[in-house]
Amino acid sequence: MSTAAYRIFAGIFLPEIQDMILDGCGMVTIYELGRTSKAVRRRTRSYCRRRYHRELRRFVETPVSFRDVLRRSLGIVSGSVALHYLAEPSGWVPGDMDVYASPSGSAMIMDYLIDKENYNLTSVHNMYGGVGWSSRKSVLEVSKFERPGDSVKIDLITCVDSNLVTCITSFHSTVVMNILTADSVYSLYPRLTFMCRGFWGLAPRLTAYSQTTHDAMDKYRRRGYNIQIGTGSWKRPCGSYCPVFVRRFDSVHTFHYVFCVSGESSIPASSAWTSVRWRLGIECKNRFCTHSGSVMRM
Ligand SMILES: [Zn+2]
Repeated sequence: MSTAAYRIFAGIFLPEIQDMILDGCGMVTIYELGRTSKAVRRRTRSYCRRRYHRELRRFVETPVSFRDVLRRSLGIVSGSVALHYLAEPSGWVPGDMDVYASPSGSAMIMDYLIDKENYNLTSVHNMYGGVGWSSRKSVLEVSKFERPGDSVKIDLITCVDSNLVTCITSFHSTVVMNILTADSVYSLYPRLTFMCRGFWGLAPRLTAYSQTTHDAMDKYRRRGYNIQIGTGSWKRPCGSYCPVFVRRFDSVHTFHYVFCVSGESSIPASSAWTSVRWRLGIECKNRFCTHSGSVMRM
């Protein structure tokens, strides 16, 4: 968006018109726009909340109450809904919502879904033996919710570790490494995600036996995301996209936008999230890679 366009946007006060403009902008433009002035930042935050509520309204009657439960339980939304919020290439709409929480947070969210949103708990799957779409035994159980007369579903994923980022960073590909908290959004591979690209991050030994992982890859490809496997065909150094490059959650490589009124995220800066480090679960085969041959220690 040009400087002139920023000025024009700053002069528009109707939320409906602002939404129409910002719906056509990428998340980076919205972020940059919010840095131009406090007044504009209030509007971009307000838009991001409305955009979040639009996502949530497909699953819950009262998005504000649901966000309040997320805030109190320190739960997060990830998977298709977080990806759709950040980058949607082809008009697909998520049919299920993945909510992640610690064991104590999970109980709070479960009560809310059943008591306030009329959901029924349809099944509980014990996952501690490991799941095909994750490189670690980071998931304790998955509770599935449906409600009468509605086709959408909610999966409540109870994580072993109360630090939920460690669960997200062990997933099968970068395309799902995005997080919506009650008051902010994170993308762990923003440049790839905003270009509707992803990188498959699980080692062949972990994917070979799992139809689940192949189904997941197909699902995101059908939705218009370009999912790459391996770096063997790359013609230049991988840089920070190298699968052996150790990323830190609290780094310049992570996109983070806080959209609550106060500008303070519900996840405090001292949170254990900020110290999380990870790398993808595959080796780099790029012959131009400067990381190849060296062992990256976490
Ligand atoms: Zn590399």
